[in-house]
Amino acid sequence: MIRRNPGFSNLTAGYLFPEIARRRKAYLAAHPDAKLISLGIGDTTEPIPPHVDRRMAEYAQRLGTVEGYSGYGDEQGLTALRERIAEVFYAGSVAAQEVFVSDGAKCDIGRLQLLFGRDVEVAVQDPSYPVYVDGSVIIGAAGPYDDGRGGGRPGYRGIRYLPCTAANGYFPDLEALPENGLVYFCSPNNPTGAVATKAQLGALVRAATAKGSLIVYDAAYAEFIRDPALPRSIYEVEGARACAIEVNSFSKTIGFTGVRLGWTVVPRDLAYADGASIHADWNRVCTTVFNGACNVSQHGGLAALEAEGLAEMRTLTDFYLGNAALIRRALEQLGITCIGGDNAPYIWAHFPGRSSWEVFAEILDHCHVVTTPGSGFGPAGEGFIRFSAFGHRENVIEACRRLERLGA
Ligand SMILES: *Cc1c(COP(=O)(O)O)cnc(C)c1O
Repeated sequence: MIRRNPGFSNLTAGYLFPEIARRRKAYLAAHPDAKLISLGIGDTTEPIPPHVDRRMAEYAQRLGTVEGYSGYGDEQGLTALRERIAEVFYAGSVAAQEVFVSDGAKCDIGRLQLLFGRDVEVAVQDPSYPVYVDGSVIIGAAGPYDDGRGGGRPGYRGIRYLPCTAANGYFPDLEALPENGLVYFCSPNNPTGAVATKAQLGALVRAATAKGSLIVYDAAYAEFIRDPALPRSIYEVEGARACAIEVNSFSKTIGFTGVRLGWTVVPRDLAYADGASIHADWNRVCTTVFNGACNVSQHGGLAALEAEGLAEMRTLTDFYLGNAALIRRALEQLGITCIGGDNAPYIWAHFPGRSSWEVFAEILDHCHVVTTPGSGFGPAGEGFIRFSAFGHRENVIEACRRLERLGA
């Protein structure tokens, strides 16, 4: 019989969101009349704005005509879209040829592992978006910890968790970065909503350079930043072109979680230990195991980067930030300490001394609101709950009203 990739047996426990879905279903089975509101999963809820939607529909219609039909495109994406991304988001610090359009940031995060193989050491912010860890483990980058007594402990041998806590201002101790490894860094952060300052990113780039490590910078929430002093891209920091790949996405900013469109920037300056070009290998990955993003999505992306589309993006992200402000205010009125929500669509609420799953269950039972337990994002998330600002306004207002029951 064929052997299983050992990476799969190294994965610990279930993926966080299926577990939440299971608990939600169990609760509804026991309380069939409960009207649950979800502030849990990070999926968008508002429709695709009209300009972008119209452009996609028009393009899709043209595909049904002889003149308008097109088949495979360039694997790296439409040239016009690559140019526009370089212009709008990187203002000249990145060339169009360094932008690779994809079917989403998560998919690229998975494929990026192919560049480094199984023996690379991986570091993640703790808490972190689960894909960085689980994607690394599947490819074989790490096995689970085993303390020799059969109990193990949370986490994986080859993965360093860099705690991001209130004590360090949600920015990790850079002494702990691996040598010649891979460092995932997400800002604005999912789940904490924290945003690294330019000085902090500068320190991260210097530390990674000194250690010979490569940063995979996830900027999926950059367009939620409202404070003009905060960096939206790692390439705003000197030296980043020689040590960082940046992944980004249209998912959260224009409602493309279902449409699927993202991009990855791989600067030509990046090299492996032997001097080979990382850019050239990424091009090879894209042309070999990826055949380009959907052409309808790419025309939606182009429309999103026209003046009307950019205005729609701003309105949509403002809407979710409005939700975030309501949720954060409701929590703070109960005396709960929170961060995030001001430049990110997530609020990270602290329940000191309590288990995240216990608080999750209490909020579900008393408020009929589904949240995400912080411990699902890593050991340092224990005692926290993530509230997502993705939701219809009336649901968010109702959820905030119900949260008052926590104070009672
Ligand atoms: C939602 C999200 C993404 C986007 O992934 P897509 O595959 O583009 O939908 C990427 N990174 C983080 C941290 C996210 O929360």
